[in-house]
Amino acid sequence: MALIKCKECGKEISDTANECVHCGCPLGKVKFYTSNNWTGIASRYIISNNNGQVLAKLKGGEEFEINIDEDTKFYVRCNTTLSRKKHEVVAYACKINKFLVEITFMGASTRVSEIN
Ligand SMILES: [Zn+2]
Repeated sequence: MALIKCKECGKEISDTANECVHCGCPLGKVKFYTSNNWTGIASRYIISNNNGQVLAKLKGGEEFEINIDEDTKFYVRCNTTLSRKKHEVVAYACKINKFLVEITFMGASTRVSEIN
């Protein structure tokens, strides 16, 4: 758990909270779901931030969740040898953002789609 600043009132709050305990402003939440239809040995879904820092390495069928307090860019790629395309996604503060990460054909391409 870490402390972050509420973007509305500027006070410190836990990054695991769903809303600011001081003013009630909802915190943005980002969830990545990975498709579970690929279990190949080389398949890992890698989620990194704007600074290139790896936030999570996921296998098929896993998920990753993080709270954000401002609009944030994420980068998603799969580390198969066939596809190293980086997908950029933007998650918005004050919104629950959900993204599905899939390998579409035998590791040949990856896809990231926003889901409801
Ligand atoms: Zn607040």
